[in-house]
Amino acid sequence: MKIIPPRFTVLDRLDRESLPVRIEYCGRVCYKSEDRIDRESAIPFVAKMAEHGHNSVLEMGVLTLQVDCQSAGEINELFRCQPRYLFIDILDGNRLLVTGSVRAFREMQLFHPNCAPVRAMSGFLHRCHDWFFVGIPLDEESTPDPPIQVKKVDLAQVDRFPPLQLEKHRHIAVKFVVNRAVTHEIVRHRPCSFLQESQRYCRYSDDKFGSEVTFIKPLFFTEGSVEYNVWQQAMRETEKMYLQLLETCTPQAARTVLPNSCKTELIVYCNLAEWRHIFRLRTSKAAEPSMREVMIPLQEDFRERFPAVFA
Ligand SMILES: Cc1cc2nc3c(=O)[nH]c(=O)nc-3n(C[C@H](O)[C@H](O)[C@H](O)COP(=O)(O)OP(=O)(O)OC[C@H]3O[C@@H](n4cnc5c(N)ncnc54)[C@H](O)[C@@H]3O)c2cc1C
Repeated sequence: MKIIPPRFTVLDRLDRESLPVRIEYCGRVCYKSEDRIDRESAIPFVAKMAEHGHNSVLEMGVLTLQVDCQSAGEINELFRCQPRYLFIDILDGNRLLVTGSVRAFREMQLFHPNCAPVRAMSGFLHRCHDWFFVGIPLDEESTPDPPIQVKKVDLAQVDRFPPLQLEKHRHIAVKFVVNRAVTHEIVRHRPCSFLQESQRYCRYSDDKFGSEVTFIKPLFFTEGSVEYNVWQQAMRETEKMYLQLLETCTPQAARTVLPNSCKTELIVYCNLAEWRHIFRLRTSKAAEPSMREVMIPLQEDFRERFPAVFA
């Protein structure tokens, strides 16, 4: 058995990657199959996730579009549809700023294919990325009349938005390596997208997990104390039973004996406004101490990255 401290990583490196690359990286956390990533694997992975309906993986790539409509009527048409999980701002004139995940844009097309701004955005996305709407009907011939102009807004431009737009449109992902009690609480934050290491698929008796179960060191007990020794003994016994069950059972059956202290990986992806809400709740004295253990330093990190929102 292995005992490790909790940690987090801000996945800012992924912000510089293409949508399929970041989607694949995040998606493979579920299966702990990051070793299968190569130069060609990202787009087939995205297509497979879409085909299998593992749609939350497609939430791990977010992009922002500028949509220049010709009239207020077209803007009204979009708002009447109310496409879900898109963040929309009306700028000067008939110009829109629209941010959403690959999944949100795909479902926008699926449910509102006749809305003119939707057709314009879908046409643009399809021209840029031929994998984007795999499995979703798209009328490639049709163009809105009069034409609505769509262009991508780079992340560097998003980062220069004034605070109210920045906190709404700027998304950032964080990977937590924590115990399952902490992830159980984090996943209550509904506006976020999540992907989590799956105990159904991961067999901790495999070599790649070191043939052992990893637990997160609890902050409640001092190492060497009576309480810590009791906890350690419980984890040792649990691991023994889990490995014994794996000799005849699937991981999803064997995991029923695993405790809250079990290490897991969770990717949380949301905009800065939601991160601020999370920090407000999860760093307060009322929050669970193991949650504060990671959220307080993470909030400090965000203060340095985005002072306009978190200072
Ligand atoms: C100290 C503490 C103790 C807790 N104890 C318990 C407990 O004992 N049992 C338990 O079940 N949970 C408990 N929770 C979880 C808590 O009730 C919330 O589910 C969790 O903190 C998510 O936060 P949220 O609901 O404010 O917002 P989020 O889910 O993060 O959503 C962000 C914002 O979106 C809006 N929003 C999202 N979804 C909706 C919706 N469906 N309707 C309206 N507005 C919405 C709201 O404005 C909300 O503020 C606890 C949380 C804390 C911090």
